[in-house]
Amino acid sequence: MLIMRESRVIPLQAAPSMGREARPLPPAWSAHAHGAPLDGSPLLDTLARPLRDLRISVTDRCNFRCGYCMPREVYGPGHRFMPQATLLSFEEIERASRLFLSLGVRKLRLTGGEPLMRRDLDQLVRLLAALRTPDGSPPELTLTTNAALLAPKVAALKAAGLQRITISLDALDDAVFRRMSDADVPVAQVLQGIDAALAVGLMPIKVNMVVQKGVNEDQILPMARHFRHTGVELRFIEYMDVGQTNGWRMDQVVPSQEVVRRLSEAFELAPVLNQAPGETARRLRYADGGGTVGFISSVTEAFCGDCNRLRLSTDGRLYTCLFATEGHDLRAALRGDEADAQILNRLQSLWRARTDQYSAQRGQALPAPTGGRRIEMSYIGG
Ligand code: SAM
Ligand code: SF4
Ligand code: SF4
Repeated sequence: MLIMRESRVIPLQAAPSMGREARPLPPAWSAHAHGAPLDGSPLLDTLARPLRDLRISVTDRCNFRCGYCMPREVYGPGHRFMPQATLLSFEEIERASRLFLSLGVRKLRLTGGEPLMRRDLDQLVRLLAALRTPDGSPPELTLTTNAALLAPKVAALKAAGLQRITISLDALDDAVFRRMSDADVPVAQVLQGIDAALAVGLMPIKVNMVVQKGVNEDQILPMARHFRHTGVELRFIEYMDVGQTNGWRMDQVVPSQEVVRRLSEAFELAPVLNQAPGETARRLRYADGGGTVGFISSVTEAFCGDCNRLRLSTDGRLYTCLFATEGHDLRAALRGDEADAQILNRLQSLWRARTDQYSAQRGQALPAPTGGRRIEMSYIGG
């Protein structure tokens, strides 16, 4: 079953409503060579949020079957992944990224599925690392991975220009880890990947741990102890209701406040000042200098207010929210004969019409967005 085929996709050319409300689009304007609006005003969506972060899913495949993301019952042998021809090529991803940098994007994150399953990923990293923002700076270039395949590949990725890395690891205990990842990969292999990333200087490294009630709660303290004083920032992620396949229930969520309470019983924690706007994680530091921990509380404390993220799916569709049901077909524009300026116009219109704030609406018990099937995280990336 190909989940993603069931989500509604709007051709970018049809210039769509963003989100679920039909809103009139602002009149299209022409763009100068760098794509900024002619009036010089910053590109903001309807909630005055800039576009800063592009998450690029390079494959919908994965070597893990985490129950909260790609449960094996759904992503078993009968699942049809995307055919190669539908995937954006590295050159198409590079062109799209170049256009987005001219619109204000400053961070490019490669994700998936498992991005290290895409062959020759270092070649894509090399192309993206050579791009420049309009002020001549390189973009922040980062990767999210389960790290099972990382150790042998990390030197090439670093040499190609990868700057940072986020590694997902839900437990230190091998049995808990295998139960959650549903793959024949030991924790030791992921830890080797982290060590290899440290060894080549991919700093700072972040480790993402999705906390599920009754599944890996007992790993909170062992994980904290393990990563203190290593320079690695452990981030606790609330289990989210993303997609349609994980059977999410609120009673499986461990609120970040509860994680903080448990950590506080073992360690003295202090606030971190000067958090950057748009940062997904709230951070605390160990008072003894052991480093920082992060909390991604998308369920109990929505951060839609400064969400500056856009997602580009493996097959070239744009999603303005993790919980979107509608994608916008950039691939058709890239493969058509449209000039950069035309595509830039459409991208600007798309962002200016953006209304998404799914998590905030859920948190405030506002009418939840309704509509088509929500897309899966393995398709648009985390
Ligand atoms: N395969 C790579 C990995 O696991 O790091 C990259 C893609 S994965 C979709 C990106 C991130 O999304 C991971 O850190 C994963 O833990 C997180 N994630 C996936 N499903 C989630 C869910 N239902 N709730 C919270 N986080 C989730
Ligand atoms: Fe694969 Fe990452 Fe999803 Fe786990 S969270 S199934 S590693 S894509
Ligand atoms: Fe951004 Fe959508 Fe998540 Fe809100 S729910 S933070 S708008 S991705």
